[in-house]
Amino acid sequence: TTLPATADRPAIVLPGGKLLLNGELAEPRHAQGTIDAIDPATGERIMAFPACSAADVDVAVKAAQSCFESREWRAMRPLDRGRLLENLALLVEEKREELAALESLDSGKLLFVTRNVDLQFTIDGLRYFAGWASKINGEYVTHNPLMPEDAIYRAYTQRRPIGVIGGITPWNFPIGQAIQKIAPAIAFGCTVVLKPSEESSLTTMRLGELIAEAGFPAGAVNIVTGTGAEAGAALVDHPLVRKIAFTGSTATGQHILAASAKTMKRVTLELGGKSPTIVLADADLERAIPGAAAAIYSNSGQICTAGSRLLIEAPVYDAVMEGVAQIADSMKLGSPFASDTQVGPLISARQHERVSSLVEAGVREGARTVAGGQRPDKAGWYYRPTLLADVADDMTVMREEIFGPVVCATRIEDRAQIVKQANNTPYGLAASIWTTDLDSAHVLAERLDAGTVWLNTHNVLDLAMPFGGSKLSGLGREFGTEAVHAFTEPKAVCMRL
Ligand code: NAD
Repeated sequence: TTLPATADRPAIVLPGGKLLLNGELAEPRHAQGTIDAIDPATGERIMAFPACSAADVDVAVKAAQSCFESREWRAMRPLDRGRLLENLALLVEEKREELAALESLDSGKLLFVTRNVDLQFTIDGLRYFAGWASKINGEYVTHNPLMPEDAIYRAYTQRRPIGVIGGITPWNFPIGQAIQKIAPAIAFGCTVVLKPSEESSLTTMRLGELIAEAGFPAGAVNIVTGTGAEAGAALVDHPLVRKIAFTGSTATGQHILAASAKTMKRVTLELGGKSPTIVLADADLERAIPGAAAAIYSNSGQICTAGSRLLIEAPVYDAVMEGVAQIADSMKLGSPFASDTQVGPLISARQHERVSSLVEAGVREGARTVAGGQRPDKAGWYYRPTLLADVADDMTVMREEIFGPVVCATRIEDRAQIVKQANNTPYGLAASIWTTDLDSAHVLAERLDAGTVWLNTHNVLDLAMPFGGSKLSGLGREFGTEAVHAFTEPKAVCMRL
């Protein structure tokens, strides 16, 4: 089906409504009704998709398990698993414009971002992990025999695929996150059942249609749609799922970690953040001011690594506040499809309500609004880029992840306090430091409690760089060499000669 063009956007190809189950596009047999996909820029319904039940998840998991055990999958050469990902990369590349438009429609992300960031990341991710498939090696182990002196032992390790992976993704980076789970799972010899967020499932469904064309063995990749409470929980509870690769909120991650204990599942948890943007007195403000604004206002603040706490050294405090406020005030809100739009909508009415009420509570408790702080008079779930000052460390707005375009500023009087202040959060996902002094940059970087520290930049991800967080921001790392550990387990083989 194609959604006809309107004044605001082009015609958009929608997914057919079926799911990739055991190699076929099919209607789930036990679905509990449907879920509406809503356009966050207008609040209008786009289409409905299946709300899979635990019984549907069971069908998908059994298909993935049966593929995992099959001779075809076990005997497939690693290079050929890589070829599957390369085939899919070509198909996604061919449909890049179409997928970018669908992603923008369903998630409210700006079209130039979905086209140049999300889709590029998706295509690169497939190619990056295609290359890994043939480069997974074990180790030779030097043995220390305790047995009789004439016995000789040799030992080596293999890295074995974990098994069926349950991938669960959030709404802010839908197709990219789907590939972040699917591509390493396949590269390292696992099979996968993926459940996208019910807030933005359409590009993952469309991806399922392309996977069906790309020549994957039946069951290697399965897509189930539905709610977290039903379909997500069923994946977490399923005894044949050996690992959950999850990206989403800390609250859900905590729930998944506890529930996984029953079946001793492996987990990687990529969770929320409250990342500091630190501007030192010697920063180049021409870079630091737009950098600090982009760190929080990109994607309307709906980025897990968003720089949502702005720590500014006293000598440059006024200049940075004035600069960031000017940028916030001048940003143009509008349709994700318009080339001059800088701020798109938030994902949902619920998220919009959460952002507004957190800001209102902050202001009631004494925070001062320097920019934004209101909902514009406009259809859709828009929120103005907001800068708050005089925010005490114990206010909710300073402690909790808001996941909206809201940054809380703090004036740092004493440099010795910066590390303590930056680490004064339950999260530990990311941080950026803006300075022209190399020594300060590296000394500070070492002491920050964060999975990623950026120097004079923010929100730069690379598939070769390990990604994940400490404290409440998660468990484990994805990307790069770390992905090998996330999707395989070592097995030691010891022999007596
Ligand atoms: P969410 O936790 O509400 O949902 C994430 C996914 O979990 C969805 O698919 C949902 O259906 C599913 N889910 C919900 N309850 C479940 C349950 N009981 N069992 C199994 N699955 C369940 O998160 P969200 O609101 O979609 O996404 C925003 C959050 O994601 C933010 O906190 C953000 O920081 C985080 N995030 C983190 C990263 C990272 O890499 N660290 C990246 C993007 C987003």
